[in-house]
Amino acid sequence: MIDYQSILNNIYARVTRETDKGKIAKYIPELSRVDPNRFGIHLKLISGEEFSVGDSDVGFSIQSISKVLTLSMAMSQVEAKIWNRVDVEPSGNPFNHLSLLELEEGIPRNPLINSGAIVIADILVSQLKDPKAEFLKYVQDITGDPSISYNLKVAQSEKETGFNNYAAANLLKSFNNLNNSVDAVLDFYFHQCSLEMSCAQLSKAFFLFANKGLCLKNVARLTKSQAKRINAIMLTCGFYDEAGEFAFEVGLPGKSGVGGGIAASLPNEFSIAVWAPGLNPQGNSKLGMQALERFTTLTNQSIF
Ligand code: GLU
Repeated sequence: MIDYQSILNNIYARVTRETDKGKIAKYIPELSRVDPNRFGIHLKLISGEEFSVGDSDVGFSIQSISKVLTLSMAMSQVEAKIWNRVDVEPSGNPFNHLSLLELEEGIPRNPLINSGAIVIADILVSQLKDPKAEFLKYVQDITGDPSISYNLKVAQSEKETGFNNYAAANLLKSFNNLNNSVDAVLDFYFHQCSLEMSCAQLSKAFFLFANKGLCLKNVARLTKSQAKRINAIMLTCGFYDEAGEFAFEVGLPGKSGVGGGIAASLPNEFSIAVWAPGLNPQGNSKLGMQALERFTTLTNQSIF
């Protein structure tokens, strides 16, 4: 029997001693105000047991982690409309890289880079009557927590500084890979990125991917095959240009965001989320990656 609580305490003691905590994302002004010393982990086992340490109940900006949740909602509703518009190959490039779009004739490399997530946002904007409200409800439902909400200041801050995302959306539009207006799609995209969730809430949302598509209430929100596909995409594409390093060091499907969060799953075993706001040069949480590396090493649990 693994003593998860001692392992989390051990990781907390060791990782929070680090003096180089990485750099907080400053390109979205609202994100730069976060305390760099925050650190939390929440672990949810398939058996239902939960373990946590540090700031595991403090909400933070989930940013690109939301791309997994929009993908999950889109796959559960209209999977047939996705794969001719977005590919599933790792990009090996930063999240906001644009030239790939041109090379691939308007088909983004995968749904977890910005251009791919913007296409998924377009699919949801076409599909839903009230996209922002319905997506928020989806996240609240799979997490079992109606208190989750958008941070409107962060959404506004992203809108004011999102030149790269406007460029990506315009490029997609020029290739006829955006059916709605650039403004409508990006309004949705900026809101999804602004979702505020804690490690505890994120690990509950990601339970779906650890539990073959069944949510906390044992209701099927994805098919087994869709859960497998999302895990495969997270493993190969979930960490910007550092997906190989994450698989090598940690060995779990997961997704990071520039708010310093990482959510991951080990199918049939657990989901886990960690938050440490300082980022490494690739834009992944520096201490978050270290903590997960230590977690899979000490528990001897990874997909490999
Ligand atoms: N909202 C951010 C952007 O599109 C997401 C960045 C991220 O977490 O990768 O710039």
